[in-house]
Amino acid sequence: MKLICIMCPMGCELDVTKKGNDIKVTGNTCVRGEVYGKEEVTAPKRVLTALVKTKEGVLPVKTSTMIPKDMIFKVNEEIGNLTLNSAKSGDVIIKNVLGTGADVVVTGDIVKFDI
Ligand code: SF4
Repeated sequence: MKLICIMCPMGCELDVTKKGNDIKVTGNTCVRGEVYGKEEVTAPKRVLTALVKTKEGVLPVKTSTMIPKDMIFKVNEEIGNLTLNSAKSGDVIIKNVLGTGADVVVTGDIVKFDI
């Protein structure tokens, strides 16, 4: 399997082969690429970025750590169900979202609705 490593801006091209439990990664420049390549074929994870509604507009948020890729839709739905009164950058708005071990954290300022 050919992959682009997303762990840093260098974007190394990885070649990941899996035979049984033996996973071999080549093309990586550092160990993070090897870890990423192995995870991609076993239990892929991503950091989720999203917008959460407030009474005045929307706030950018993201998960504090990577979450399993197959939980992205459910976590996004959980974030979509919220409407906050207010929050500021750095605030945790959901702790341990859906048991993933990641918090949902505000990452920026409110973007106000222009109506
Ligand atoms: S293998 Fe290492 S250097 Fe290459 S993109 Fe991944 S993290 Fe960056």
